[in-house]
Amino acid sequence: MNEHDSERLAGILVADGLEPAEILEDADVVVFNTCCIRENAGNKLFGNLGYVRSLKRKKPGMQVAVTGCLSQMDPEDIQRRADHVDVVVGTHNLASTPGLLRRAVEQGPQMEILDAPDPESSLDAAPALNAVREVPWAAWMTIQTGCNNSCSFCIVPSVRGEEISRPVSDLVDEATMLAGRGVREITLLGQNVNSYGRDITKRQPLFAELLANIGAVEGIERVRYTSPHPKDLRPETIRAMAEVPEVCNQLHLPLQSGSNRILTAMRRGYTAERYLERLSDARASIDDLAVSTDLIVGFPGESDAEFEETLAVAAEANFDSAYTFIFSPRPGTRAADLSDVFISPEVVADRFERLTTVVERSALEKSMARVGRIEEALVEGRSRRDEMVISGRTRQGKPVHFTTEDREARVPGAFVSVKITRGAPHHLEGEFVELIAPTKTPQRLTLQVR
Ligand code: SF4
Repeated sequence: MNEHDSERLAGILVADGLEPAEILEDADVVVFNTCCIRENAGNKLFGNLGYVRSLKRKKPGMQVAVTGCLSQMDPEDIQRRADHVDVVVGTHNLASTPGLLRRAVEQGPQMEILDAPDPESSLDAAPALNAVREVPWAAWMTIQTGCNNSCSFCIVPSVRGEEISRPVSDLVDEATMLAGRGVREITLLGQNVNSYGRDITKRQPLFAELLANIGAVEGIERVRYTSPHPKDLRPETIRAMAEVPEVCNQLHLPLQSGSNRILTAMRRGYTAERYLERLSDARASIDDLAVSTDLIVGFPGESDAEFEETLAVAAEANFDSAYTFIFSPRPGTRAADLSDVFISPEVVADRFERLTTVVERSALEKSMARVGRIEEALVEGRSRRDEMVISGRTRQGKPVHFTTEDREARVPGAFVSVKITRGAPHHLEGEFVELIAPTKTPQRLTLQVR
């Protein structure tokens, strides 16, 4: 979500007359669009701001803006710790950034934090099509912002506000225009993406309808979405995933913990049994489904036995991949108040390693099971590690690496087929079979996958 917000904010700045700089040191305006989901994101920001302070000393006209979630969470902290920052803007009015930068030239540092989205200055006030997108063949599309849940570890509801869904017609129009520009794959974004539409209509399920509507847009060949909530995974969504050919067979379903007591303390609204049931329904209905998840290690008060339950559920769920996180107390959340039962860093490190072993084992098994299959891949560019190797992504969302002499098959945005020859925990390797369709948006061959 933040990365796409950054693309949209860059589009607003370009529309205001700025041009992207090749390197940070050349920039006249530097914008940090921030995340506050874990403490480390804040530490990184202040490290980067320290570097920019030294640049600004050499180039006094340089302007620095800090936008997004960290600004929303604690704008005064940014002003206090970084007095060289010219503009601080929260999540609800990112489109104010150019005006505030101009005002800062005349009047000095500006700070503008709103409690709720402002129709005049939210990102939705600017056409999303102007976003400076990282790649031309795939696009993110924000369908909903905010979250009405209250998971006890999560800062998102307090910095992003309540759920607001964009109208279906706007989203279909945007997808149609993106397809017209050569976009083949769209990823629908929302903090709680599968509750999309609850604020628009009582007639549910709008999310399942939206999947079908975006899939029906001429030229859109792949549709993905992230991140859904297990408690809101409705049968209609599973049916749409099974029946709409453009919707990819990939489901990211955050589990967080396998212990029912911890899930209750997290206020997640499901049990481990319910999670596994929904997962099994999805796997039974959707052909060849890949499943990934999020897991938190060391939630306050997590006992050894409760952690063992997470290991057991993760093993049973047999994930294709998992993002494992160490609990990070976020100020203002209920879980941050449980400091008397925080888990020691040594115990957390040990649990983290054990959980990683379990999820890597299933990831490797899942990848190895692909060996011998012919997979469709959407080419993303040359591999960072080896210039001769081309990287793409399968319909399941797995990275796949291969080589080919076929020039058209090397161009980002091309569809190719690849015979899988090796499976590793985080990627596949294969032999090029054939070009399925050349790109619709010719690229320089030097593009690197980030
Ligand atoms: S559903 Fe997701 S975004 Fe909402 S509070 Fe829970 S973890 Fe945070």
